[in-house]
Amino acid sequence: MKIKEVKTHIVKAPLEEPFSFSQGWVYDRCSVIVEVVCRDGESGFGECLCHGMQPPQIAAAFITHCFAPHMIGRDIFDAEVLWEELYNLSRPFGQQGAAVNALSGVDIALWDAIGKHLGKPISKLLGGNFRDSVKAYATGFYRKKGRRYPEDAIEEALGYMKKGFRGMKLKTGFGVDADIAYIRAVRKAVGYEVMLMADFNSAYSQAEARRLLLSLEPEKLEFYEELLAPEDIAGYVSIRDLTPSYIAAGEEIFGKIAFKEWLAKGALDIYQPDLCSSGGFTECKKIAALCQAYNTMLIPHVWGSGIGLAASLQFIATLPATPLRSAPQEMLLEYDQSSHPFRLDLIRDKIVFRDGYVQVPDAPGIGVEVDRDILNQYRMND
Ligand code: CA
Repeated sequence: MKIKEVKTHIVKAPLEEPFSFSQGWVYDRCSVIVEVVCRDGESGFGECLCHGMQPPQIAAAFITHCFAPHMIGRDIFDAEVLWEELYNLSRPFGQQGAAVNALSGVDIALWDAIGKHLGKPISKLLGGNFRDSVKAYATGFYRKKGRRYPEDAIEEALGYMKKGFRGMKLKTGFGVDADIAYIRAVRKAVGYEVMLMADFNSAYSQAEARRLLLSLEPEKLEFYEELLAPEDIAGYVSIRDLTPSYIAAGEEIFGKIAFKEWLAKGALDIYQPDLCSSGGFTECKKIAALCQAYNTMLIPHVWGSGIGLAASLQFIATLPATPLRSAPQEMLLEYDQSSHPFRLDLIRDKIVFRDGYVQVPDAPGIGVEVDRDILNQYRMND
């Protein structure tokens, strides 16, 4: 099936209440939604992740000016061929960041189109489902003006427990001593039955991370995410053995070649590629194979609209436990609970969350349909 057009929809919605993390303030939620239109009129959709302070126009421009002209008239079933060609085309000025971001959205849209044409969910086209539902953990706990911490965070945590979540991830990186007191207070409030994680968004030096990890050992966190800068492979190697908890990162690592470097050095316990940023289905399946070959866990990063969420569920369904055993380490879905004006409306609210688990959508492609009215409502470009 030939490609007629590749469209980008820049979607953006201001937040009623801006929120902050260790690197700054988030004032709106943005995404680049990629639409691959086929000659028969059918479309496939994908998403390029937008980090909290990332302008969506960069990835969109990459697609419009670099990738789209190369794709017109090509066959959607040549998704991997296109991936390699587009990566190579952008190699001198790409390889990471918004370039691979853009390529991810394109690849997801191609796979959605393939799935919709064949009447199969993408997970079944990539080898099948190791699971039909995934244990979800809540991502939230962003800081807002005029709130009190840890009091408000404790209230938020109890709210997630009431909703059925058995895992949650705190936003931290606001100073080592402040973080230690904050994590201890939340742990005391939720108890040890809840799987508790903390995300530092690259706030610390190696020495600060060391002090934090050694001080917090009794709190038994499941994993510590992005303690250090995303370029500091040696730093991660140096802190990894300081804690029985897992050390995680990966949302700012792009493509299999970059992941190879980290895996070869034994830098992390958990790798967190984002399907909408680290290369889409084509590349993230290869990253998953590398992680499996190194006997290392992969738990994807997920933070975007419902399109990225549904696509990530397709990907997660296909990941073998590392290693397989009769009662393997459970796979996790990062389920962002922070404010997002159109997260689920964009896919007609088709995500089923029950008793702490999210079902993998089993309809064709990414498993959900995009609501064009919502897409147009939040669309910024013409
Ligand atoms: Ca993160």
